[in-house]
Amino acid sequence: MQLARFPRVRLGHLPTPLEPMPRLSKALGGPELWIKRDDCTGLATGGNKTRKLEFLMAEAQAQGADIVITQGATQSNHARQTAAAAARLGMDCHVLLEDRVQTEDREYYYNGNVLLDRLHGATVQAYPAGLDMNAQAVVVGEQFRKQGRKPYVIPGGGSNATGALGYVLCVQEMAQQALDKHLAFDQMVMATGSAGTQAGLAVGLKLSNSDMGLLGISVRMPKAQQEANVLRLAQATAAKLGQPDLMQAEDIVANSDYVGSGYGKPTPDGLEAIELFARHEGILLDPVYSGKGAAGLIDLIRKGHFSRDQRIVFLHTGGAIALFGYSSAFAYGRDVIAPATVA
Ligand SMILES: *Cc1c(COP(=O)(O)O)cnc(C)c1O
Repeated sequence: MQLARFPRVRLGHLPTPLEPMPRLSKALGGPELWIKRDDCTGLATGGNKTRKLEFLMAEAQAQGADIVITQGATQSNHARQTAAAAARLGMDCHVLLEDRVQTEDREYYYNGNVLLDRLHGATVQAYPAGLDMNAQAVVVGEQFRKQGRKPYVIPGGGSNATGALGYVLCVQEMAQQALDKHLAFDQMVMATGSAGTQAGLAVGLKLSNSDMGLLGISVRMPKAQQEANVLRLAQATAAKLGQPDLMQAEDIVANSDYVGSGYGKPTPDGLEAIELFARHEGILLDPVYSGKGAAGLIDLIRKGHFSRDQRIVFLHTGGAIALFGYSSAFAYGRDVIAPATVA
């Protein structure tokens, strides 16, 4: 079924740039590295949730919703982009934030994404860790309905078959850019969490008969569970497009070697990846998602997983605004600017 049959509202600055990373490629001495800049989708500093929200918010509008409810971890990029999308479309937004990452760093609880949620006018409620947060969001939606509101509940990460359509479409966007530059890519590497991004990409690649590989670097779940989650959502997405038998287990590959001690907990190799991208390409990653995805890319390059003549594209899924909730993860401290000796 054609993507144009599904309602879509334009929220992103699309197409996002597809750029080479010559200095990083050289520093790593590995394959030719490119980056698809979905951190530049424009909505409230950008990120991968914008493409999903183009389909989700259109469905909310079509259903006559006046409030969207969603959930995520405290520093959720998805919550922030949803809050901004709701503001843009004149809907209210209510977010449930799970205290999934317990930390001593107070900034984690009010800076970065949390600051922006509130700036965009969302109402925010904190939940303890370990609940079924999608179920909680449905309960809250029903409470709003009883108050006479028209709620639309978006699952965590915007990851359902509607949201994943945004990444089916992204494959078409990138294919056109690659064709315009006359470049073929051997592999895409990206961070995978609630699975919608990888599921949409996998469906898009299969529909277009692409021979580009797709590797998801897990930020939370063990490999087998992540692959199962992505496959289930990819199958639902393909079914929505009228092709229920399209996706098979071998279409989905995830690697969970870079999670570290858990979701949202910075890792040494993730922090190194953030510095490498910042200092070689002037590109900002984040400690929860894109930094761990890039850590996987870098480690696999160092281990010789890719050959030097391959061309690899890293999907930058955004998230850098969370850096302001994670400043204590970096060794810079608060008093490291050496005082000048005034002549
Ligand atoms: C949500 C998110 C991801 C993961 O995308 P999923 O579709 O949830 O798998 C990756 N990077 C960033 C910055 C995100 O906010």
